[in-house]
Amino acid sequence: MELALFCTRVNFLVFLLALSSPCKFIQSPMDFGPLKLLQATNSASLDFGRLYSNTPSAVLRPQSPEEISLLLSLLSASSFSKVTVAAKGAGHSINGQAQALNGIVIEMDSLPSSIKIHRSVDGEFGPSYADVSGGTLWVELLKETLKVGLTPRSWTDYLYLSIGGTLSNGGISGQTFKYGPQISNVLQLDVVTGSGELVTCSPSKNSDLFFAVLGGLGQFGIITSARILLQEAPHKVKWVRAFYDDFEDFIKDQELLVVSMRDKVDYVEGFIVLNEGSLHSSSLAFPASLSSIAPQLFPQSTSSHKHYYCLEFAIYYHSEKEAINLDQISRKMKFKPSLVHSVEVAYFDFLNRVNVEEVNLRRRNLWNVAHPWLNMFVPKTGISKFRDLMLQTISASPTFEGPILLYPILKDKWNSRTSAVLPESEDNVIYIVGMLRSANPSTCSEQCLEFLLHQNREIVKTATHPEMGIAGKQYLPHYTQEEQWRAHFGGKWQRFMARKTYFDPLNILSPGQAIFKRKY
Ligand code: FAD
Repeated sequence: MELALFCTRVNFLVFLLALSSPCKFIQSPMDFGPLKLLQATNSASLDFGRLYSNTPSAVLRPQSPEEISLLLSLLSASSFSKVTVAAKGAGHSINGQAQALNGIVIEMDSLPSSIKIHRSVDGEFGPSYADVSGGTLWVELLKETLKVGLTPRSWTDYLYLSIGGTLSNGGISGQTFKYGPQISNVLQLDVVTGSGELVTCSPSKNSDLFFAVLGGLGQFGIITSARILLQEAPHKVKWVRAFYDDFEDFIKDQELLVVSMRDKVDYVEGFIVLNEGSLHSSSLAFPASLSSIAPQLFPQSTSSHKHYYCLEFAIYYHSEKEAINLDQISRKMKFKPSLVHSVEVAYFDFLNRVNVEEVNLRRRNLWNVAHPWLNMFVPKTGISKFRDLMLQTISASPTFEGPILLYPILKDKWNSRTSAVLPESEDNVIYIVGMLRSANPSTCSEQCLEFLLHQNREIVKTATHPEMGIAGKQYLPHYTQEEQWRAHFGGKWQRFMARKTYFDPLNILSPGQAIFKRKY
């Protein structure tokens, strides 16, 4: 056994030397004992954003966490090499975060998918949970837990993202105000650190690693397994959409729901309706006819450029017989009765709603296009100013395709020990604003795409400037310079750096985030 490990080490050193030579791409699979590195593929160089394409030197498709541990131990022991490693979940990043130029990409979907569900029985101490491997998609976890009537509590809008990928960021959606982000709903993690150590961690065991990894942008370790909190799954969902022409009324009602009616509603989101086209495209998954709403918002007789706001909320039914009285909620809200629609849908269909849009966009060849997305957290006190900044900026765009999400979450549902970054202001109500633009190649040239990216940078610059009164922070942050990262982390920067030095001392992990440079 020792001899085999010695041979693996020697062969691996030869491989690392080869990587340092000008001809660095491996031509065929290479075996290092239990480690088998594969030739780089197109998919290992790409992500959903289609803005960056960094080709790795090799790909690892691990069959076990031990293979990941061996790879990182070997790299940590070879002090002359500058090879980096990126875990890749579903590759749904926008800015190359799961890429590793000339490094090694670990495709996490190859880990044997394992979902073990523990249902808490009456009288037992502790909640129900699922142990699930890091490369598993949330939709796979949902399908398994629903078989036994359980479900995770906190979601993202889109379910075809990996467990490890969203836990490295936050994982937010319309349930976040109630249960916190996905990173607030994890009980335990198995992690391979940058030095190759396999560690089980939780809030009470190796807690610094646990909190570092949650929202840690892949910097401290690779999540090979996560224990996700579960609860009883609802039967059905009442899904409501109400339209507003006044921004203040819209956000007041959103805040009413997430603060005062927190116990009555289960999901709150909202979006801006820029024009009739965006009303129709945002309604693909919502199975109600727009025939009574569309003419009220966009009458044929006028060519007004007015925009609207759509508040979306949902209430879960926990039994077949349950009756939901919407009046109890809506009588305190400010929307006009003629501008509200509600439908009842199956719980799975509700959570999987973005897939309807995906199918539609794929059919029109508009899914695999560039996505100059921008997501910002904005405190309540800065949201009106941010809205003005955003609408003024995009009014100069040649086109706008894609939704603009805008909804509140509550800061006290986030654990400040995690690595995730929220605005530092005192407000407990924080808005997430997602400008989810697509660059349709037939209407948006390379120059147009560059213009959209420029607009995003300008919005970030203004919204994060200390004197502009917005105090925003990027969600799924993208920066390229150390001083930008330092400003992004603010008071959390020293802790973030200390954790990096401790858990990934050679800066091997997640080079695509462009926070730290690989050390020798
Ligand atoms: P990847 O892109 O593969 O990786 C992201 C980062 O995590 C990289 O740095 C990577 O190295 C690291 N990483 C990946 N796996 C692991 C692991 N196992 N251990 C450690 N590090 C790892 N986000 C929300 O919060 N809410 C939403 O509603 C939402 N909707 C989205 C809808 C779409 C259509 C898309 C494309 C994205 C959406 N996102 C949303 C963003 C998404 O959560 C992030 O991009 C997330 O990182 C994607 O997960 P992934 O598995 O594709 O990660």
